[in-house]
Amino acid sequence: MSKLPHIGTSIFTVMSQMATEHQAINLSQGFPNFPIDDRLTSILAKLARENIHQYTPMSGLPSLLDKIAVLTQKSYGRNVSAKEEILITAGATEGIFATIQALVKVNEEVIILDPSYDCYEAPILLSNAKPIRVSLNNDFTPNWEVIFAAANEKTKLIIINNPHNPTGKMWTENDFIQLEKLVDAYPNLLVLSDEVYEYISFEQTHISVHHRPKLWQRSISVSSFGKSFHITGWKIGYVIAPENIMREIKKVHQFLVFSVSSIAQHALNEYIDLVEVKALGQFYQQKRDFFSRLMKDTKLELLPCEGTYFQVASYANISAENDLDFTKRLVTEYGVATIPISIFYANGNDNKCIRFCFAKDDETLTRAAERLRRL
Ligand code: PMP
Ligand code: GLN
Repeated sequence: MSKLPHIGTSIFTVMSQMATEHQAINLSQGFPNFPIDDRLTSILAKLARENIHQYTPMSGLPSLLDKIAVLTQKSYGRNVSAKEEILITAGATEGIFATIQALVKVNEEVIILDPSYDCYEAPILLSNAKPIRVSLNNDFTPNWEVIFAAANEKTKLIIINNPHNPTGKMWTENDFIQLEKLVDAYPNLLVLSDEVYEYISFEQTHISVHHRPKLWQRSISVSSFGKSFHITGWKIGYVIAPENIMREIKKVHQFLVFSVSSIAQHALNEYIDLVEVKALGQFYQQKRDFFSRLMKDTKLELLPCEGTYFQVASYANISAENDLDFTKRLVTEYGVATIPISIFYANGNDNKCIRFCFAKDDETLTRAAERLRRL
């Protein structure tokens, strides 16, 4: 009597477990393997002794909310109300879940662009609503013709993810112009913009919904401190939405978690003043380039990577296996764990691509490449 009959254990859990079991190098699940900033460690040690260990207000620590508003202004030139329009959540995952539960009603439709990250579908199904899976083009750009054809009066949300997991693709100005046309055409349609990799972009500048005044009143954005500050295990992020929408999201949040980790919020409240988020792109660009140089000596063919800390590679000239079998064999026979791209599609996909996470120290990437050269 499952409410989610076709949903199993996430591929990130499966692959990380396999990596542990086979003592493989884990380039599958997206998390950094290097230590956190010493300054953050010191802040934590100091805070542990302070009286900050009880519930924070439901929406988040007021001073951290204020600082997120300042960061949003600095990054995107947009003023948001800390009190009315920002909510600190237990990672982007909780922000996405609370948003969908709060906004999407029975039988409404939500457009998801495949390949898509795995946490969007379950909250839609639990709302008794309909996920409408629309494939991106072969080069992972949005196919606006198909998106327009999929939209109708019942479409409540379109979920976008830019920079994109798993492909590393970024949206262009023209994509946002098309998105604006879509919301113009359907007055009830809202945009859920998953921007967890907002500060990890390379040659191109990331365009946020917060850059686009036409989208402000119609968009909910989701951010993750996990990605931006190398602390994925802290599970802390935030949602920004217009006040009337945020009021609804907070209703769900208060009964899902009420408030999130106090020590994490206090620590970030101090740390956020010390970091320059703009430096994150350069940091990961070096890693991307380092990894791509290492991979030149393998038979894998790398696809372009414009943002995020994921690199997609084709193994088409190595094997005819499906990507799940290939990734399993990579773990067991070659000692490197990766993610098969087909899991990001509603009905699978046979483009013979796998995803690497390059948020790893140079030594780990070097050792992984040595193993992959044997392919
Ligand atoms: N969206 C995307 C595209 C992701 O890759 C992730 C995973 N890290 C999340 C949302 C969830 O982020 P968090 O760990 O902050 O819940
Ligand atoms: N976002 C991470 C990834 O894409 C996974 C996080 C998780 O395991 N839920 O690898």
